[in-house]
Amino acid sequence: MGLLQEILDYNQEFVATKQYEAFLTSKYPSKRAAIVACMDARLIELLLQAMNMKNGDANLVKVVGGDVSQAYEGVIRSLIISIYEFHVEEIFIVGHHHCGAQHLTPEQVFNEIEAEGININRNNQQLIDYFTGFGDLEESVRKNVALVKSHPLIPERIKVHGLLIDPETGKLDLVQTANQVERKEKELLMV
Ligand SMILES: [Zn+2]
Repeated sequence: MGLLQEILDYNQEFVATKQYEAFLTSKYPSKRAAIVACMDARLIELLLQAMNMKNGDANLVKVVGGDVSQAYEGVIRSLIISIYEFHVEEIFIVGHHHCGAQHLTPEQVFNEIEAEGININRNNQQLIDYFTGFGDLEESVRKNVALVKSHPLIPERIKVHGLLIDPETGKLDLVQTANQVERKEKELLMV
């Protein structure tokens, strides 16, 4: 039995026994929060429980590396719609330790793609960017916070925080609070 059939069979039972009732909630996030985090499979329930979030509390945007820069349109659009349509007031950018996307190299991925018999242009800048790791963890979180914060359609009142999570223990390290972001911007303006 393939995974799809397994899922469909389970789902029939899930709905028939009304297990969904435990998850019923409003589409408006009750904590008025949006979270951007890595797609990492370790960060599904762990991420939410470590942040004391449950169904209905926040809009969750999952993207490789929690990297806003590489999925700019999609992530920013999700956040903007979260703000204007779902009344989100606070955004949490959550990177994580031991992220597979951190040290990614284009050569490594190109080799794997070519091994599938797919021809690619190794000089294509978009492909190179796709598969280049983000390097320093904290710096990446700060960069992603700045990208969100500086978007012209995101109002000044929206708080944007940067965090790192341990994918084993769920421990959160604060990288940057919204207040620190604003202070930094003011400093830059004064230069
Ligand atoms: Zn990751």
